Amino acid sequence: MRTPEEELAGIRARGLWRQVGSFEPVPGTMQCRFNGRDLVHWASNDYLGLANSPELQAAFHESVARLGAGSGASRLIVGTRASHLALEEELAEFEGTGAALTFSSGYVTAVSAIPAIVGKGDVVILDKLCHACLIDGARLSGALMRVFPHNDLEKLRSHLHWARRQIEARGRILIVAESVYSMDGDFGDLAGMAALKEEAGALLLVDEAHGVGLYGPMGQGRVEELGLGDRVDLRMGTLSKALGLAGGYLCASRSWIDLLINSGRGWIYSTAPPAALTEAARHALRMLRGDEGARRRARLWENVAALDEALGRTGIDPSPIRPVRVGEAEAALALSESLRRRGHHVPAIRFPTVPKGTARLRVSLSADHRKEEIGSLARILREPELHGD
Ligand SMILES: *Cc1c(COP(=O)(O)O)cnc(C)c1O
Repeated sequence: MRTPEEELAGIRARGLWRQVGSFEPVPGTMQCRFNGRDLVHWASNDYLGLANSPELQAAFHESVARLGAGSGASRLIVGTRASHLALEEELAEFEGTGAALTFSSGYVTAVSAIPAIVGKGDVVILDKLCHACLIDGARLSGALMRVFPHNDLEKLRSHLHWARRQIEARGRILIVAESVYSMDGDFGDLAGMAALKEEAGALLLVDEAHGVGLYGPMGQGRVEELGLGDRVDLRMGTLSKALGLAGGYLCASRSWIDLLINSGRGWIYSTAPPAALTEAARHALRMLRGDEGARRRARLWENVAALDEALGRTGIDPSPIRPVRVGEAEAALALSESLRRRGHHVPAIRFPTVPKGTARLRVSLSADHRKEEIGSLARILREPELHGD
């Protein structure tokens, strides 16, 4: 029998060793203490700074006092409180869909929803760069699975033709993609995919984990910004990123949501998220929709523009995810460490999070970054010797 130590030695030898660090943010800023060092961090998905905002913290505090700590049971037993139903109604209204359902995380949303939508005898087709939870949900579903190269609509079209031949007339074909790709920060071609899925009589699920809060008039996401609300069947999002808390959700028609309530295993067989958390999410959603959200979005986009300008990057999709491609895992780790020595925490992202040979530093911007911090990071990143060329 192979030992865990042998396996760990192999992971180490490939430069893929992972370990946890202890992180303490300084409220309202992007400074932190990470493993005992004072650094500016470029590593969070809290793009609007809500997780770190005194207003949301106070709302969370108040809701714990009012609604208690844990929820005590799963949603179908006695875990559902008025807050859960209210948040779901508000999310459905926000996204303009018939209904919504919340989950304890975005990950759980995907691994619960995809197997409830497709199963044996169906086909699921994913973009190559889809997040692990979408891949895991597809695998778990038991549906036939196909992957197309990132945003390659010709390949998607041929997979759709293939799928039609594989399944019976009542079989389902589900296309899964992201609106903003988590490790590259570029956009999925949602309009192109919507057209193809209509042609093929398929379904389209879009993961807006990095879209929600940032795009569209009130932060509804890319689907709304592109006016594709009626053409995307299932919209997934997370409360853990721009909304600053934890949890996931799916917005769709009433019937899809009822199907999930009846067969989404990760939703049925898991204790409901605490109502206090759900209540805080309602507050975060109000912040997103109101002036506070608009102000924070404006600051974030200014920061994105400032970094792009300082790095001389043009013609790329506007997003707070600004990776610096390195290549090999060891080189990415070394670059991350040299930035850390100079006051910046930018994590190295390696296989299997990204494909082999594409290790990178994932710079992620927040509304709370200051112009001096952006200038300092950009100056270091522009030093040629840093990249060994
Ligand atoms: C982070 C992420 C998720 C998972 O959301 P959590 O709430 O963190 O579990 C899902 N999809 C994508 C694209 C993500 O980046």
